Amino acid sequence: MNHKLDAPSHDCCAAPGLIPVDEALSRILSEGKPVEQTELLSIAHAAGRVLADDVASGIHVPGYDNSAMDGYAVNSEDCVETGVSLPVSQRIPAGQRGTGLEPGTAARIFTGAPVPEGADAVVMQEYCQQQDDRVSINTVVKAGENIRRAGEDIEQGSVVLEAGTLIRPQEQGLLASVGLADIKVRRKLKVATFFTGDELVEPGHELDPGQIYNSNRYTLNGLLRSAGCEIKDYGIVPDTLEATLDVLKQAAANADLVITSGGVSVGEEDYVRIALEQLGELNMWRINMKPGKPVAFGKVSDALFLGLPGNPVSVYVTFLVLAQPLLQKMQGVDQPGPVPLSIRAGFEWKGIGRQEYLRVRIKQDASGPIAELFPNQGSGVLSSVSWADGLVVIEPGMTVSAGDVLSYLPFPGSR
Ligand code: AMP
Ligand code: MG
Repeated sequence: MNHKLDAPSHDCCAAPGLIPVDEALSRILSEGKPVEQTELLSIAHAAGRVLADDVASGIHVPGYDNSAMDGYAVNSEDCVETGVSLPVSQRIPAGQRGTGLEPGTAARIFTGAPVPEGADAVVMQEYCQQQDDRVSINTVVKAGENIRRAGEDIEQGSVVLEAGTLIRPQEQGLLASVGLADIKVRRKLKVATFFTGDELVEPGHELDPGQIYNSNRYTLNGLLRSAGCEIKDYGIVPDTLEATLDVLKQAAANADLVITSGGVSVGEEDYVRIALEQLGELNMWRINMKPGKPVAFGKVSDALFLGLPGNPVSVYVTFLVLAQPLLQKMQGVDQPGPVPLSIRAGFEWKGIGRQEYLRVRIKQDASGPIAELFPNQGSGVLSSVSWADGLVVIEPGMTVSAGDVLSYLPFPGSR
């Protein structure tokens, strides 16, 4: 039997009492509303921001028919056979305007320069030989060749970018190309973070026995910063109900969204969920995913609340799967990601009742890209996330054979 042709099989269902990931995500997204306030911002500082309105172009781009090559502008009717010799009547560098092309002549022209009236083609200089003030055209010329037409990229009056577009460097360039210096974007999302755990110590300090470093702070805040959020970081919070209530109240008062790590499980030292229930409402808890089961979602006053588990891998995975789409929705992105891709499995796997997210690195084999598995998939093994390029998704009960095609979520900013 050739496993490569077999679809992965599913032979069991979600673990009881846990919310399926798709349902959890759609419930989370249905609560997330785009921030309403907008601001006018220089395009130079707009990367990572989201357009508030459609943007239309006031000009054609290119603004005029121009040469796509260094060469000679001609009238194609003068060059119906190869080897024609024409006098060179003018020279048009980029940034200058020539005059109308006299019939039976050629204009020396450079990339980006306006094609003169009367010319209908540009011949690449590789096909031309100039001697003194004449050029021989050693090819047959087709009308229209090597001319970039006015408006072929963007037509005057057309919508260049729609409201809800996330601005990347290519959008900054595109906005510049139509001459816009400032654009209207939605304001930055305000996200408050805190990190629960009596065992936590900041890097740079000595560890006492039983203590660990607060790695989640750097992972989570880094992800939020990359996602263009304004972060208010409340740091380490001890495992007491009082401290948790206190910080949650402050955090929610100043943020659109509060994201935390740890303290959402079922242990006696887990106070985040209890504090959420006392100050606001818990809408959802325990999701059918691994890593990341004990995620809590709810509301405190006007802020949404997302409590991520404490395990460092769980933080990263639940951020990617649940938090990032929510952030994008609240930022006003019209189609929140991530968009899953497909990848062949370079390993075998026997699924469990929960939806699993395995850390993989993409390699090339004779048939193309293939996902290699990190050997230790433990939810505390942060090296796996650093090693990996992304996650493959193993649906509940799925049996994976080498070569099966799996859904793949690339990490933001990966190679
Ligand atoms: P918890 O969800 O609070 O029970 O934490 C689960 C595991 O994650 C425990 O082993 C914690 O020590 C660890 N953990 C919790 N918070 C952090 C953090 N901020 N950085 C690194 N590890 C953490
Ligand atoms: Mg804890």
